[in-house]
Amino acid sequence: SKFTEGLTKTRDGLANAVNDLVYRFREVDEDFFEELEEVLIQADVGVTTTMDLVEKLKVEVKRKNVKDTKEVRDVLVEVVANMLVEEEESELDLSHELNVILFVGVNGVGKTTTIGKLANRLKNEGKTVMLAAGDTFRAGAIDQLQVWGERSGVPVIRQGEGSDPAAVIYDAVQAAKARRVDVLICDTAGRLQNKVNLMNELEKVKRVIEREIPGAPHEVLLALDATTGQNAMVQAKAFKQATDVSGIVLTKLDGTAKGGIVLAIKNELDLPVKFVGLGEKIDDLQPFDAEQFVYGLFG
Ligand code: GDP
Repeated sequence: SKFTEGLTKTRDGLANAVNDLVYRFREVDEDFFEELEEVLIQADVGVTTTMDLVEKLKVEVKRKNVKDTKEVRDVLVEVVANMLVEEEESELDLSHELNVILFVGVNGVGKTTTIGKLANRLKNEGKTVMLAAGDTFRAGAIDQLQVWGERSGVPVIRQGEGSDPAAVIYDAVQAAKARRVDVLICDTAGRLQNKVNLMNELEKVKRVIEREIPGAPHEVLLALDATTGQNAMVQAKAFKQATDVSGIVLTKLDGTAKGGIVLAIKNELDLPVKFVGLGEKIDDLQPFDAEQFVYGLFG
């Protein structure tokens, strides 16, 4: 499938390293677990989650009385699968008359691209969609969003570069109400150089949406770049502290051999991964599927 194809690099990295380990070690001993820890940390699973995983793995290995490292591999796949599927639903909440999705994340992670892909995806599902060019700070961001809007035939509400994002979002909400669209997707600025300003701006945008549509935004999606590894985790923690994030979109998963970041997100952030980006094209956005992900990881 598209999903597993997008994970080729990670599979080549992580699965090969695990297989290699399994063939080098015959005994299931401390050395084996130590090297496994290293392999997982290398794959961006992160120290905390790696320790959790290996701890669970040891319990299962003991319980099942596993003596062969090849069987340990299978138990590892099970433990990983459990860690992923225990989590909540990954579907978007689109149950409202006008559904508002706010996108947040730092520059360069693929936020605008993801909005374009999601707009197209929702439109193909029969929804009417509108985009709000709320990133008025990054040069080119508004035009870039416009191009994505044109690609999927979705209107884009915009003002000039440097204008007040809250004013753009206000306009967009009014337009979305007037045209009775199903989904309004709002872009926001992602400069991290000035964290306090960024977070204040986000709060202001959120307040405008809340005031105009009680209960909205219905989703606040944080875009994270899978190729940035533990940096993405740091960003996630900062955004989570500053605002009510409802889910993660993990971009550029096709571009990394370290897809283990998904495990760290699931285990440490308590946030669902709703979509993953698996390429630069319009249809390279897929809903997160835990089962396929595990299959994609270990082949
Ligand atoms: P923004 O600054 O967060 O809005 O980032 P952009 O949407 O401009 O994306 C930055 C770069 O990442 C662009 O070159 C995109 O084509 C690329 N990109 C975005 N998503 C993906 C993805 O899932 N896979 C790959 N390989 N590239 C992506």
